[in-house]
Amino acid sequence: MLSEPTSNDSGSKSMSDCIFCKIIKGEIPCQAVYEDDLIFAFDDINPQAPVHTLIIPKQHYVSLKDIPEEKMGFISHLMSTARDIAEKKGISESGFRIVLNTGRDSGQDVFHIHFHLLGGRRMSWPPG
Ligand code: 5GP
Ligand code: ZN
Repeated sequence: MLSEPTSNDSGSKSMSDCIFCKIIKGEIPCQAVYEDDLIFAFDDINPQAPVHTLIIPKQHYVSLKDIPEEKMGFISHLMSTARDIAEKKGISESGFRIVLNTGRDSGQDVFHIHFHLLGGRRMSWPPG
């Protein structure tokens, strides 16, 4: 079951000046890819691969660490949407990578949880 968005006070990073909340509200322009009641997807402004789409919940959560256990249901919806977007963008067969940076050591820069969907080129491992 998917959880409906509710008010949230997770974390120290304020949602009032969150760029991704502003993108969801249409206050900052973006190349939208998908939208429903719970999630939003748009192309990354600084793509690291031919396909680089960000998939986010509309509810502001700072990171994976900040999602209460009972609200985790939307993650499977988000993953299934990522799979659909990969199909639509033509990278399903060639392969793709989904990245969830969490916290300082990961390089997380925007403190509204977001999954990166990357594809369209061969990627290396381990990541940098
Ligand atoms: P992080 O490093 O936090 O995992 O990734 C943040 C991502 O957000 C980066 O890939 C960055 O290019 C992207 N980004 C930051 N600001 C904007 C913006 O205003 N619009 C879009 N479309 N992407 C953004
Ligand atoms: Zn936000």
